[in-house]
Amino acid sequence: MTRLVIRHATLVALALLAATPLAAQRTIPGLDAAAIDTTVRPGDDFYRYANGSWERNTQIPNDRSSFGAFNIAAVLADAHVRDIVHGAAASHAAAGTELRKVGDFYTSFLDTAAIAARGTKPLAPLLDTIAAINDQAALARFIGAHLRADVDPINLGTLHTSNLFGFWVTQDFNRPSRYSAALLQGGLEMPDRSYYLDSSAKMNDVRGAYRAHIGRMLTLANVGGAEAKADSIVALETKIAATHWKVEDSEDPAKGNNHWARADFARHAPGLDWPAFFTAARLTDQDSILAWQPSAITGLSALAASEPLGSWKALLAYHAIEERAAVLPSAFDRESFAFFGQTLSGAPEQAARDKRAIDATSDALGFAVGRQYAQRYFPASAKARAQVMVAGIIRAFQKRIDALDWMAPSTKAEAKAKLRTLRVSVGYPDHWPSYASLRISPSDAYGNIDRIERFGFEHTRAKLHQAVDKGEWVMTPQMVNAVNLPAMNVLNFPAAIFQPPFFDAKRVDAMNYGGIGAVIGHEVSHSFDNLGANFDSKGHLRNWWTTADFAHFQAATQALARQYDAYHPLPDQAINGQQTLSEDIADLAGVTAAYDAWKESLGGKAAPVVGGLTGDQQFFLSFGQIWRTKFREPALRRQLLTNGHAPGPWRALTVRNLDAWYSTFGVKDGEALYLAPGDRVRIW
Ligand SMILES: [Zn+2]
Repeated sequence: MTRLVIRHATLVALALLAATPLAAQRTIPGLDAAAIDTTVRPGDDFYRYANGSWERNTQIPNDRSSFGAFNIAAVLADAHVRDIVHGAAASHAAAGTELRKVGDFYTSFLDTAAIAARGTKPLAPLLDTIAAINDQAALARFIGAHLRADVDPINLGTLHTSNLFGFWVTQDFNRPSRYSAALLQGGLEMPDRSYYLDSSAKMNDVRGAYRAHIGRMLTLANVGGAEAKADSIVALETKIAATHWKVEDSEDPAKGNNHWARADFARHAPGLDWPAFFTAARLTDQDSILAWQPSAITGLSALAASEPLGSWKALLAYHAIEERAAVLPSAFDRESFAFFGQTLSGAPEQAARDKRAIDATSDALGFAVGRQYAQRYFPASAKARAQVMVAGIIRAFQKRIDALDWMAPSTKAEAKAKLRTLRVSVGYPDHWPSYASLRISPSDAYGNIDRIERFGFEHTRAKLHQAVDKGEWVMTPQMVNAVNLPAMNVLNFPAAIFQPPFFDAKRVDAMNYGGIGAVIGHEVSHSFDNLGANFDSKGHLRNWWTTADFAHFQAATQALARQYDAYHPLPDQAINGQQTLSEDIADLAGVTAAYDAWKESLGGKAAPVVGGLTGDQQFFLSFGQIWRTKFREPALRRQLLTNGHAPGPWRALTVRNLDAWYSTFGVKDGEALYLAPGDRVRIW
C-alpha cells in the first residue's frame, strides 16, 4: 500500500491572474513587466522588486496550496497532457497498446459511478488478509509482500512512504557497474517525523485533527472500535516517528551506504521475522542489502516485535484505506482530502475529478504519456538550443575550476573528469520503458492502481539482474522539473521545463540564460556540491577532495547555510540552512555559471537592450521571476519542515552573492540585502 500517487500530485487550475492595474506600463518582450514593483529597491528585496505586483495581483487557485513559476509553466504542459489523455480515451486504440492503456486508466479513474457502485468491495480482500495476520511471521510476510518502489533519497529526494519500509534500487556506490537494493524507513501517513514529535501548539492541533480523521476513515470503512483504534494508531505512528532520521541525514549518501548481509538483518535489527519478510518480498536472491537509515531499520524492526499485533493490524488496515481513498467511494476521497489537502496543505478545494484523473494517468503511465508528449510538443529546434546552452554552462564550470586558487591539482583533475563524464539528457529518454506486461481495465480503478504499483516494484526489482543503465530517466518528459542523478553523474531535463518563464525560443538569450540556464547550472552544480562531492567520476562513493580543499569548501558552504538560517518565512519558523544546503549551493553555482556562459555566448558583442533594460538587468530579472511562488501557510510550513529546497522567494535572493548583481542594480551598503564583498559567498 504505497502512497497513492495521486494524493500529493500537482493539482492544476488556470492561474487567476487578475488584470494588473500596472498593465498599462511598458512591456518587456520575454519578461513579465507587469510583475515588477518599482516601489521596492532591488537591494532591499530583490524578489519583491521582480515579482511584487504579481504577488499582489495573483490569487492561489482554490484547489492549490501554493502557486508559482513551475505551475505557470505547467499550465501549458498540462493542457498538452490533457489533450493526449482525452485523445487516448476517445481513440479506442487496439487492445494491449500503450494508447489504449492510457485511455482505459483515465476512463476507470473518472468513472465515479462505477467506483460508488462497488463500494468498499475492492478493499475487502486486503482487509481480510490483514485481519488474518495471527503471528509475527504473518506480519512480516504481509509487510514484505507489499513492499513497493516508492522512495529515492538522492535523485528525487522522495523519502516518505506509509509502508513500514520503502524500497529503492540504486547504482551500487562501491561497485558502480551493478545495482543494489535498499530499504528505507517508513510507516507514517503524515509527511515527516516532526509532525508527530514537534511540541508546538500548531503541531499539537494538527495531531488532534489527524486522530479525528483516522476515526472517521475507519468508521466509513465499517471497522469496529474505530475511536480506540485511532488512538492506538497515532500512538504507534508516534513510536515509529521516534525511530526516524531527519531529512538532512536521510539525504546523505555517506550515511546511507550501509551494506548489510541479508543473513545479518536479524542480528543487526532483531524483532521482525526477516527471513519471512525477504521471502515475501522476493529478495532472497540478494546477498547484501543497503540499510539506508540503520538505526531506524533497527528501531522499526524492534517495534514489530514489541508492539501488540492488534496495534499493527489496526495501523495496516487504516493505511490500506487511506492509500486507496481516491479510488474508493467519494466519502473516503472527501475525508482524505479534508485532512491531507486542507488541514495539512491549506488548499480550500479539491481539484476537479477530470483534472485528477488526467494527473493520475500521467503519473501511473508516465512514459506512455511522455512518449506522446515528446513526439508532439518538443521540437528538435528547442532540443538543439538547449544543448548549446548546456555545453556553454559546462565550459563555464570548467573555466571556474581552472581559475580556483585554493583547489589542489588532484581535486581539480577529478572535478574536470566528472564534467567530462557528465551525461546530459535533454527532453526525453533515448529508449522507453515497456508497459507490455501491465494489464489495465477500463472499469477497475482500484485494481489498476494495485497493478501499477506491483508493476513498478517488479520493474525496479528486475534491475537487480541487469547492467546499470545510465539512459534510464527518473522524471517523465511532461514534468516541469530537472534532476541530477549524482551517483550516475547524469542529468535529466524534461521537455516540459523548456517553456516560459524558464525558456522561450522567441526571446533574447539573456532571459533564457537567467531562466533555464540557471536551472541547467543548478543541476550541473549538484555533481560538485556536498552531495556530488561524495561520488567520483566513476560513481564510487569516495570523497575525491583533498582534506584542505574540502575544509575550504565546507567553510564556504557553512557561510551560505548561515545566510539561509537567518531567513524567517514564517514568524515562528526559519529556513533550516543545513537541510537546504545542497540546493542553495546549486542555486548559487547555477546562476553564476549561467551568467558566465551567457557572457561568453555574446562573443564580445554588446547584449541588446530590451524594453529599456540592459542585458544584465534582463538576466537577473528573469532569474528573479522563475522563483515566484505564493504559499498558503500550512504548505509553507510543510515545505520548511520537510523539503530540501528553500521556498522560491528566498531562492531568488541568492543573487546577493554575485558582484555583477550589485553593479547591475546599483545596490549599496545599508540596503537590506547588501553584503560586503568579503561576506559574499563564493564557492566556485
Ligand atoms: Zn537541486
